[in-house]
Amino acid sequence: MTNPSLDRQHPAQRAAAGTLVPKTCVVCGSDYKECRLPGLVRCQACGFVAANLNISDEELAAIYGEDYFHGNEYLDYIAEEESLRLNFRNRISTLRSLVPDLADKELFEIGCAYGFFLQEVAPVVRRASGIDISVDAVRSAQGKRGVDAVCGDYLKFDLPRPVDIIAMWDTIEHLKRPDLFVSKAARDLSTGGILALTTGDIESLNARLRGKKWRMIHPPTHLHYFSVATISKLLDRNGFDVIHVSHPGNSRKLRSVLYYIFVLRMKRPAIYAALQKIQLFELPLTINLFDIMYVIARRR
Ligand SMILES: [Zn+2]
Repeated sequence: MTNPSLDRQHPAQRAAAGTLVPKTCVVCGSDYKECRLPGLVRCQACGFVAANLNISDEELAAIYGEDYFHGNEYLDYIAEEESLRLNFRNRISTLRSLVPDLADKELFEIGCAYGFFLQEVAPVVRRASGIDISVDAVRSAQGKRGVDAVCGDYLKFDLPRPVDIIAMWDTIEHLKRPDLFVSKAARDLSTGGILALTTGDIESLNARLRGKKWRMIHPPTHLHYFSVATISKLLDRNGFDVIHVSHPGNSRKLRSVLYYIFVLRMKRPAIYAALQKIQLFELPLTINLFDIMYVIARRR
């Protein structure tokens, strides 16, 4: 899918605008070719998968307005707070097993949303702060939770000093330039610093079985689709050694699972509304489809 108004522009104008999803692989620089999954392209050299579309920064900014965290993608992010915090605690304990002196470390989070992770991690590190492009989320993080968060674009943000750990939870798949984020993270980390991230694994069994129906495939919010091989390659090219890969489960209330199935996927909100009468709605579930990967890398 191309945007005709952009195609008419002179190439130099397009480059100056800096608003397009790259036309060559952000992992290795080779050309993309057709992919068996509609709407996506695949690198002919390394197999990296990207959304085949152009989207402006303005269009992306509009997607991440208040609605984004309230039903468009997440079922009321704040209502899911309890589950999200449990998931974050699990990620912190994995981090602690690899970084024994966590209490001495300064951590920075890219895509901190409402600040739940920063609140969970603050007591176990020396200092924790973060950035997010959602005005609504950052305002809430700063105000209600007293979290050290700023609103803005990480690529344009100057960290006052190198940090020891950078976290990016379920964020890299949303970025137009994941390569630039990873290279900036390498510059912002001290030597031996840690980059910890989660994202979907398009080579996982569930992703391969589900094909075009895999739950993580939804451009334009998800623009890039990594596998263990392609995320490892991108990290290696930017001076990182991967030291941990796992596929942890996610906690969710039954309510949000049913919302996803009946409202978002099947477009049958009446069924969801009828099911709300059942007491079991608040049942916590740990679901593991082994299609989300947790990757931790150390800067060389
Ligand atoms: Zn490639």
